[in-house]
Amino acid sequence: MSDDASLDEFLGDESGDHAETGASAPSDDGEATTATEPAADIEPATTTYAWSGEGAACDECGETAERRWQQAGGLVCPGCKDWDRA
Ligand SMILES: [Zn+2]
Repeated sequence: MSDDASLDEFLGDESGDHAETGASAPSDDGEATTATEPAADIEPATTTYAWSGEGAACDECGETAERRWQQAGGLVCPGCKDWDRA
């Protein structure tokens, strides 16, 4: 039984070579931590507009528009959207 164990240890030594690759894991961790920051940046970019196939009333002028953008807590048509502020 103990022979089996020592054999396992021997095989474990061989995969110990791979452990050298695993040694780079800590730096991998650092990368993942850094990657969290840009990901948080991307999230807000997905929000700003809503699409309705039948069209929906603009919160500013009441005109029907298929695409409306979020502005001042409402959804407005392209004509009312203040692009400079976006
Ligand atoms: Zn409008």
